[in-house]
Amino acid sequence: MTLVLTPPPEPAEVDLATTYDAIVVGSGAAGGMAANVLTAKGLKVLLLEAGKKINIEQELRSMQWPYDHPRRGEAEPGWHALSLNEYNVRTPPYARKDSAYKHVWSYVGGWGGSDYVKNILVDEKDHPYTGTPYAWVRARLLGGKTNIWGRLALRLSDYDFKAKTHDGYGEDWPISYADVEPYYDKVDRYLGISGHAEGLPHLPDSIFQRSNKLTAAEVKLRASLKNMGRTATPYRAGVTTDGLKHNKYRSKCFGRGACGRRPGGCDIHAAFDSPTGLIYPAMDTGNLTLRTNSTAYEVLVDPKTGRARGVAFVDSVTHKPLEAKGRTVIVAASTLESARLLLLSKSPQHPNGIGNSSGHVGHNFCEHLMGPSVTGLYKDLVGKPHTIEDGRPGGFYVPRFRNLKDKQPDFIRGYGFEGNSGQSIYPWSAGRPGFGKSYKKEVRDYVGAFINMGGFGEVLPRYENSVSIDPNVKDSWGIPVLRFDYKFGDNEKKMAQDMAVTAKEMFEAAGVEVIGNDADLLTPGWSIHELGTSRMGNDPKTSVLNQFQQSHDVPNLLVVDGSSHVNASCQNPTWTIMALAWRSCDHLADELRKGNL
Ligand SMILES: Cc1cc2nc3c(=O)[nH]c(=O)nc-3n(C[C@H](O)[C@H](O)[C@H](O)COP(=O)(O)OP(=O)(O)OC[C@H]3O[C@@H](n4cnc5c(N)ncnc54)[C@H](O)[C@@H]3O)c2cc1C
Ligand code: SF4
Repeated sequence: MTLVLTPPPEPAEVDLATTYDAIVVGSGAAGGMAANVLTAKGLKVLLLEAGKKINIEQELRSMQWPYDHPRRGEAEPGWHALSLNEYNVRTPPYARKDSAYKHVWSYVGGWGGSDYVKNILVDEKDHPYTGTPYAWVRARLLGGKTNIWGRLALRLSDYDFKAKTHDGYGEDWPISYADVEPYYDKVDRYLGISGHAEGLPHLPDSIFQRSNKLTAAEVKLRASLKNMGRTATPYRAGVTTDGLKHNKYRSKCFGRGACGRRPGGCDIHAAFDSPTGLIYPAMDTGNLTLRTNSTAYEVLVDPKTGRARGVAFVDSVTHKPLEAKGRTVIVAASTLESARLLLLSKSPQHPNGIGNSSGHVGHNFCEHLMGPSVTGLYKDLVGKPHTIEDGRPGGFYVPRFRNLKDKQPDFIRGYGFEGNSGQSIYPWSAGRPGFGKSYKKEVRDYVGAFINMGGFGEVLPRYENSVSIDPNVKDSWGIPVLRFDYKFGDNEKKMAQDMAVTAKEMFEAAGVEVIGNDADLLTPGWSIHELGTSRMGNDPKTSVLNQFQQSHDVPNLLVVDGSSHVNASCQNPTWTIMALAWRSCDHLADELRKGNL
């Protein structure tokens, strides 16, 4: 089958003598949204992306079956993906230059189908970091991690924005759900999201396109959870299932399930990715200049005013140092890389790093804990007819149910579960012993009967959980790297115990025979949901950004990625990152128009 795709627009000439209205650093969910919103308003934007632009369709090859690939989708020998034990037992940097492996990836490279992500994930040998154990997943290319993200697209509610008011811990955000709701709506309409409305106050509904269907096993679980006052809702996927008339670069979902087979990625772009969803439409306005292979290492300041005047970067290929000029600078390099860039940007005006008079840059680092999970078997579904159930971009989601009306004695905040009972390209039942005809029958009989789910819990923001610059270690471009000082606390450990117990309880109540029930925490970082290193707030002494993600210290500097989140909540962050970036860039464009900046 041939896919008809609209090719990307021709890039505009990069002119480093020009002063752009805005320089955006990073082209993932956050940077893509900033570039899209500002160029739609007629502003001239330069987008600097450290990674390369690759032929992503050629890379993902979503239609390729394992038997079409010489190594069933695996990369050549010599590539290595880090394992759980390597993260836990060894001390970072995990991949030394003299490692026996030619290339080393984060654990995501070990999910199966590593040949499809070998040019997407960074080579850990070039990108070291130090400090406490942390499984840091990075994708350096146009579009960043959105090229392979898991697509679960959730909103936050006032249980999250006003969490301190609810339980007394930490800080409230300087905004509430009502401030962000119109922007969630805009993101839904512009990018497309599929799901089913449930009317839950703690997981507000989006403006959904056609939902994925639950499998027979998932329908049974949903019915049982309803009796417990809980919900199993179809995966809320950042995927257009009905199509988007306004975007010629994206197709509606064909339901081929390829995004769920490997670490992710959809080569017809039904699943949102930043290049086709945001950057190519921005290029079509004629207002966006894109420079890939441009690694920013300092936000430059005007020595007279202390304001941002541009960005210093190295060409990632030639290593040549260059500078770009802008009236405003928008940092969107992803939570941890943005902290690194701010901390590296030291000047007499900003001796602790730009925007860091509060000393909070790099601190209050939070994310989602992972590990507790349950797997089981619906015995009464064994041998029943089943449909082609892998043809969907996600399974189901069980939203938070802890510490809403109840108050748990051992921990605050909550967790949700992502689950699936669809057949995957290599069905779980294929791991059974046997061979020949009877084996094949058994695999087919059991295929729709397995079900599993794993939790994502809120890690509390704590000042002491932080990243800083390691003065002794540099990356392959000579840029000092991050040092982690990050640990789970008592609340996380108690929450994880409860997650394992409730997961089993829910499966047993639903008549599932439990065959696996993990309680152990995975290494910090496993969720790939880093947040909070430049939190927003009303008080410049205890926060880095205001409610429009604008630096308290440097008004023409914004940080529009997950850095600004005041707490992690337990919902996946990308849809919120984009809603907030849209809101902040609307505000920025207004301020520029009024001459306030
Ligand atoms: C396998 C996987 C599954 C995921 N599943 C989900 C999910 O189901 N739901 C969800 O909400 N989220 C999920 N995520 C997380 C999601 O991808 C991120 O939240 C999102 O991409 C964050 O956007 P960002 O723009 O902040 O960062 P990124 O997408 O990482 O983009 C940052 C960009 O900045 C560039 N950059 C970095 N440093 C510099 C520099 N110094 N100079 C110039 N450019 C720089 C990078 O190369 C990159 O392109 C998943 C991620 C992965 C990898
Ligand atoms: S199931 Fe839909 S979103 Fe996933 S790869 Fe296929 S077309 Fe893309």
